[in-house]
Amino acid sequence: MKKTANKCSICNSKNLLLEEENENIQAPFGSIVAVKKRKYICSDCGFSFYPDQYLSEREKALEISKKDSIPAILDNLKENGYNMSVIERSLDLPARTISRWKSKRDGNAMGLGLLRIINTYPWIIDVAQHKFDPIYSCAMLVQNTAKEMLDFTLKINSNFASSTTTWHSAEVRFVAEVSLWC
Ligand SMILES: [Zn+2]
Repeated sequence: MKKTANKCSICNSKNLLLEEENENIQAPFGSIVAVKKRKYICSDCGFSFYPDQYLSEREKALEISKKDSIPAILDNLKENGYNMSVIERSLDLPARTISRWKSKRDGNAMGLGLLRIINTYPWIIDVAQHKFDPIYSCAMLVQNTAKEMLDFTLKINSNFASSTTTWHSAEVRFVAEVSLWC
């Protein structure tokens, strides 16, 4: 056990209680990595703190989950019709940039952030392919917003079929129709 966990850093008491519980760590789109969460509570002054060992394990678990998220994101994008070369070309990234991230599972922070955004809004690739044309990007935004609303309302209505507060899919369909005018 680490020295820091042997006594309270506020009152120097050695009367420490250890609380343990299972914790699942997950980066966006990443795997779930289980760690043992540990917290010390000082019986004398009530101060609580996490031992360095737990904080280090938590950080490592997050890194594992982040690494796992890269192929998971790329697989999902591929299933939606956006392979790596399409993404690279549309964003003017050097060839094989993304495949290097995938093979090394080591996208830099900026690259990982970019992949998360693309995975959340895959149609942004279409916008990029149209050189970020403002009218096209507006149309894609509205169309995809309407589609999301439609999917959402269908889900809500199926989940709460008996509820009186369900959304009306006809109204959302109207929004979807309107978006086509943009
Ligand atoms: Zn204390």
